[in-house]
Amino acid sequence: MPISRRKSAVCDIDGVKVGGDHPIVVQSMTNTDTADTASTVNQVMELARAGSELVRITVNTEKAAAAVPKIVESLNAFGVHVPIIGDFHYNGHILLKQYPECARLLAKYRINPGNVNIGKKHDDNFRTMIEVAVEHRKPVRIGVNWGSLDQALLTKLMDENSLLPDPKDAAEVTREAIIISALNSAEAAERYGLSHEQIILSAKVSNVQDLVAVYRDLAARCDYPLHLGLTEAGMGSKGIVASAAGLAILLQEGIGDTIRVSLTPQPGGDRTEEVRICQQILQSLDIRSFTPQVTACPGCGRTTSTFFQEMAEEIEGHLRTQMPLWKTRYPGVEELKVAVMGCVVNGPGESKHSDIGISLPGTAEEPKAPVYVDGRMLTTLKGSAIVREFIGIVDDYVENRFSQKPVPPATQPATKLAK
Ligand code: SF4
Repeated sequence: MPISRRKSAVCDIDGVKVGGDHPIVVQSMTNTDTADTASTVNQVMELARAGSELVRITVNTEKAAAAVPKIVESLNAFGVHVPIIGDFHYNGHILLKQYPECARLLAKYRINPGNVNIGKKHDDNFRTMIEVAVEHRKPVRIGVNWGSLDQALLTKLMDENSLLPDPKDAAEVTREAIIISALNSAEAAERYGLSHEQIILSAKVSNVQDLVAVYRDLAARCDYPLHLGLTEAGMGSKGIVASAAGLAILLQEGIGDTIRVSLTPQPGGDRTEEVRICQQILQSLDIRSFTPQVTACPGCGRTTSTFFQEMAEEIEGHLRTQMPLWKTRYPGVEELKVAVMGCVVNGPGESKHSDIGISLPGTAEEPKAPVYVDGRMLTTLKGSAIVREFIGIVDDYVENRFSQKPVPPATQPATKLAK
């Protein structure tokens, strides 16, 4: 069943459109020291090549701001044109003014209204950043985070709540403060000259139920494009599952125009994992397709050898390594579905639901592996070359189905005016 997207404005970030009916955009953030130009450029390239459509870098010091032009120029020299977003806290108003090339070359600024500054300087500093954005025609994400929520606003709402005859609980007031901080800041940004279409909002929390409640409310109260993400999601399976759980609920309800999964990587871990997880969330929900999908059964007592797991891994690895080439040659190949099943119990059925499927012989079953293509049995593989032969069938299928066929002459567009 198609998902009905919330109607939102459209924000253009250096050609990447966020909001409206545009595809939900995958983004990520580097964890290098931005002042270390080489490391930052390399990581941005890795993220972009993994499929990140926007990449955010922290701009926290003068050295970081000074490095931004070198980073953008190096990326251009490598032919990597992913929009670079600057993440500003505390001193953004100073850095954006003192480093105009940084302000000019960033594609968007992320401003956290809770970290703009404290006390009466708040409005001046926020205004300064918005005026720089207006001057350079840059969009802004107003990114509220409950770890750095505007304490003056929260205290005011808590005080007002305590005077109510039936006060709300503290969590509800905190959620309201997050939303009001985002909406008030957006309103102020427009008052200072930013256009409605140059604003994206986010309101990140680290608990799934709070995330869902905050974004449902925010989505109902404005039409700004929304950046979704569970903040501080954590490490490993906890971070992946919590992010997927929260984002899936909202995306299914049509809420969210760009997403990030904020995983804590293992020391020396692969930063691109957060990109692949964003893609997998969108693909699992049938919202966007990025790579062929392998359906594999979990295995059970009927698969007593590791052959089945090794085969599933080998096929998935083959698809992954072929994708950079296939993407250029075979448009639509990312929609391919392959089933690798451990035995004939569910194997043929699952294979018929996929484009190509194989059922390996389970324990005590006859040593043969039926292969289905487009719902029909094509052949039965036997012997030690099953994996190689099956990969050959996959490669042939991709070439036959996804090669661009020449347009028949009658439907070719005219290239010059007829006399
Ligand atoms: S398809 Fe066969 S091997 Fe796989 S989980 Fe089901 S019964 Fe077990």
